[in-house]
Amino acid sequence: MLVDQAAKVLNLSSEMKEKLGTPNRILAFEVPVKMDDGTEKKFAGWRVQHNNALGPYKGGIRFHQDSNLDEVKALASLMTWKTSLMGIPYGGAKGAVAVDPRSLSSRELEYLSRGYVRAVADFIGPDKDIPAPDVGTNGQIMEWMTDEYSKIMGSPMPAAFTGKPIEKGGSQGREEATGFGGYVVLREFLNRRPLAGDIKDITVAIQGFGNVGQNIAVFLSQHGMKIIAVSDSKGGMCEPDGIEIPQLIDTKEKTGMIDRNKCYPLSSRANLCHDCTNASLLTLQTDILIPAALENQITDENAGEVKAKVILEMANGPVTPEADAILIPKGVTIIPDILANGGGVVGSYFEWIQSKANDYWEKEKVLAAIEEKMVNAFRAVAEAKETHHISWREAVYARALDRVAQAMK
Ligand code: NAD
Repeated sequence: MLVDQAAKVLNLSSEMKEKLGTPNRILAFEVPVKMDDGTEKKFAGWRVQHNNALGPYKGGIRFHQDSNLDEVKALASLMTWKTSLMGIPYGGAKGAVAVDPRSLSSRELEYLSRGYVRAVADFIGPDKDIPAPDVGTNGQIMEWMTDEYSKIMGSPMPAAFTGKPIEKGGSQGREEATGFGGYVVLREFLNRRPLAGDIKDITVAIQGFGNVGQNIAVFLSQHGMKIIAVSDSKGGMCEPDGIEIPQLIDTKEKTGMIDRNKCYPLSSRANLCHDCTNASLLTLQTDILIPAALENQITDENAGEVKAKVILEMANGPVTPEADAILIPKGVTIIPDILANGGGVVGSYFEWIQSKANDYWEKEKVLAAIEEKMVNAFRAVAEAKETHHISWREAVYARALDRVAQAMK
């Protein structure tokens, strides 16, 4: 739908639109795993390579019981738009296995990860297609996959995968990359459209307190904004004067929960806070709302109640199209996911560069390089928005499609 709108803005031919919508290659296979009880199980797996006009394919591998080919196709095309928008020399791909990784032992998971690589080995590689972690996969799985691919190729191939553990060729700053990129985008947006005279008066509510939610909370609070509410799958807390973020991260690490009494055990500060649910966080009186947990959180059912002036989509797809149609006429600005959370893939790109060059960069260098890419992407989108008089969401797609279409031409 958005692709259609962007193609119209750009005046693309129907032939080009058709090409942009069609994946270049679809690999579908089964990965056999010898289970701990001696039986053999087969798991359905896919790798979809959507478009490589701008460079090698890039995209994560998801291990999830509900994964299916249609989802992998949609996510692969999203990667094409995201890498294009970020101005990095990659195309888009995605992979998946239909499995609940929590149901496997560590040995079974390793067997499955290595088997996946054997199934796609002819089609991936540092200059062909570079996978990374996604939902249900992690640095350990990338390490097994890199090792398997290196064995097949007969020499070390660290640049064939990103998202590796730091001690195995991963990059400093990758952990913070997505949250940091979101902070840079928001800073650029506020420079253009200040919401308050003083940054200290800007209030923020964040749904989700995992990698992305915690990191963006750290950067925003370090730069003076007030994080007035945070929630995760188990609950949340509000503090109108601003939550002490390092203390809350420490509490969540120790207790696994966001708990105001455990966050401020020795002070009366806990009494100034109150608990809040995920649902109530989304409709709080706040300047900025950051969904950083799951997709489809702001829908036609709660969009009418949203009071934030700006929504920064750090999760993938947290605002549905129906909610967009309610929020935009109300004057709410939505900074779309493929721009807001693009710092993750940019961080992966710098890991790839280091792996190819057998080099290690300091964290400051990685973050400075990410910052430059995010600022450039933001400015290009802002320009497209002004030129075509379109929404931020239409502008990110127009910008992303334009680069891919030009390269294909
Ligand atoms: P994570 O697993 O580290 O954290 C997810 C957080 O969401 C956890 O705090 C969890 O408790 C919370 N959560 C789960 N269900 C919830 C619910 N019903 N209500 C409120 N909170 C809930 O994941 P992450 O890496 O932080 O990713 C968060 C989002 O950002 C996802 O949509 C992901 O696709 C997207 N994203 C992540 C990256 C990255 O580099 N990690 C990059 C791009 C996009």
